[in-house]
Amino acid sequence: MKFSESQIGLAFRLKCPRCKTGELFLDRNPYHLKNLAKMPKHCANCNLGYFPEAGFYYGAMWISYLVGILMSVIIICVLMFGFHVETKWAFAGFVLFHILFSPYLFKFSRALWLSFYVNQHRDI
Ligand SMILES: [Zn+2]
Repeated sequence: MKFSESQIGLAFRLKCPRCKTGELFLDRNPYHLKNLAKMPKHCANCNLGYFPEAGFYYGAMWISYLVGILMSVIIICVLMFGFHVETKWAFAGFVLFHILFSPYLFKFSRALWLSFYVNQHRDI
């Protein structure tokens, strides 16, 4: 199986975890902040429900938190130990990373959270 068709690959591409072609969000661009969390109720291709229960996506916050922490540690270590950047500039890079990538991380976390509960053979 190619990476792009794995559950993580589909989450990166913001695609439906069951049919692999349906869009998870109404607007794919994460920097259109007005539409950041807008998702269709069902997949247009396979009719998978994207909202299995009220508050379902609260769990995605944990993914966002864990990925954010992991990326922060990696960025700070690479900047400080790889490029010998001063600590204050390494933290500036970390802040810049979060400002730039938080909207995408929000969408990625929702996509990955949904993929935990769905596979190609079974509904939620
Ligand atoms: Zn689908």
